[in-house]
Amino acid sequence: MQNVPAVAIRNLNFFYGAGDLRKQVLFDINLTIDPGQIVIVTGPSGSGKTTLLTLLGALRTATDGSLQVFGQELVGLSAQDLVAVRRNIGFIFQAHNLFASLTARQNVMLALDLHGATAARREQAANMLTALGLGERIDYLPQALSGGQKQRVAIARALVHRPQLVLADEPTAALDKKTGREVVERMQRLVKEKGTTILMVTHDNRILDIADRLIELVDGSIERDRPGVATAQNQEPFFML
Ligand code: ADP
Ligand code: MG
Repeated sequence: MQNVPAVAIRNLNFFYGAGDLRKQVLFDINLTIDPGQIVIVTGPSGSGKTTLLTLLGALRTATDGSLQVFGQELVGLSAQDLVAVRRNIGFIFQAHNLFASLTARQNVMLALDLHGATAARREQAANMLTALGLGERIDYLPQALSGGQKQRVAIARALVHRPQLVLADEPTAALDKKTGREVVERMQRLVKEKGTTILMVTHDNRILDIADRLIELVDGSIERDRPGVATAQNQEPFFML
């Protein structure tokens, strides 16, 4: 397992639609991501960032090129096998997507395998919420939580089953800058402890420094790929924040 990249993409092209409406949105993407890295993807709206994330997360099927997650080829997988792949991945979206009628703990428990004992799942959910600074809010409903707290519940839900790969699509978009930064710093601490790989799309310039690597997507192609400040800490800073 040690030398297997978290993500290995080779010659990936992706098209939406069919016939005259067929439109290419990803062009010959090649990308290898080492385990334990935090990779941030930036790029203009419509450049294909979300499409790339949903392909990697097995939420959409790739038909062209090769797309591997921890050595598992996703191109050509059956729908059933794609479901199995998804279990190893944590998803965080722009909108927190919490169930309004469930408490923070119950929302987080949804991500856990139902085979486990309920008491153990309750405890796991509570521990993850506590790790994200929500120890006092475990049994609150989403309506009683702030935007930043709701997004932290969503992050707890994405991390609680200990996925090896976390895909985050603009997780701070609905938050103010300070709250957004707090949320990703907590996420960063947790994943670094566990060696989790993160691929995160963001427009938020204030969080770029948590990245080990920065990738820029323009018109469906990787336009730039460089080390982030987190990796280049002992070298010249790439940008001032
Ligand atoms: P980004 O996340 O960088 O804004 P997207 O991956 O959402 O970009 O979109 C890339 C391109 O694909 C855009 O031109 C968008 O309009 C198009 N697109 C996205 N989703 C669909 C879809 N479900 N059907 C057809 N076209 C889509
Ligand atoms: Mg998007």
